[in-house]
Amino acid sequence: MKNTIILDHPLIQHKLTMLRNKKTDVKDFRELVDELSNLMAYEVTRDIELKEIKIETPIAKTTGKIISGKKMAIIAILRAGLGMVGGILKLITSAKVGHVGMYRDPDTLKPVSYYAKLPKDIDKREVIVVDPMLATGGTAVATIEYIKNHTKSNIKFMCIVAAPQGIHEIHKHFPEIAIYTATIDEGLNDHAYIVPGLGDAGDRLFGTK
Ligand code: URA
Repeated sequence: MKNTIILDHPLIQHKLTMLRNKKTDVKDFRELVDELSNLMAYEVTRDIELKEIKIETPIAKTTGKIISGKKMAIIAILRAGLGMVGGILKLITSAKVGHVGMYRDPDTLKPVSYYAKLPKDIDKREVIVVDPMLATGGTAVATIEYIKNHTKSNIKFMCIVAAPQGIHEIHKHFPEIAIYTATIDEGLNDHAYIVPGLGDAGDRLFGTK
């Protein structure tokens, strides 16, 4: 699939399998999402710009590379996206974090934003939208639309499990957005859960079921 990057590093695939297992408890699930987000952030930031600077080691003068491009904004889709923020911040410590919450209108079945707070300087930042599960793509598209109303910044989407339907939905509206995922699963069941997926990521992260 175009503009879709499957992160197939063995550590990521191993942790994904542990995450999928229904026997994995809340504590381990939360830790695995944190670790996976950290490993995935490493790949998602692979193309950030560097510049050369002069430094001095204890032995000699030399040059080294440091990050020179735009800073980052992580936008977590509530609530499961919250579980991914800490793991990314461990690598990208200067990132700012925004939150977007959506519910599905029972009449129109369209996602409606009930909460949104973006970093004030989002225009000066590259954006990574995070949600562990990309299912129908409805919430992802609504979130990206909301963000695009506030900034022209480059946006990437990062999830752990994606359904083909969700990827198509994002790219139908925003073909330019790169989607990073650990897997593309078979599809969705009648309740819009990803198959085989890992169940309800929010409930498994926060122990609400
Ligand atoms: N959200 C989840 O938490 N799990 C799914 O399978 C689909 C959407």
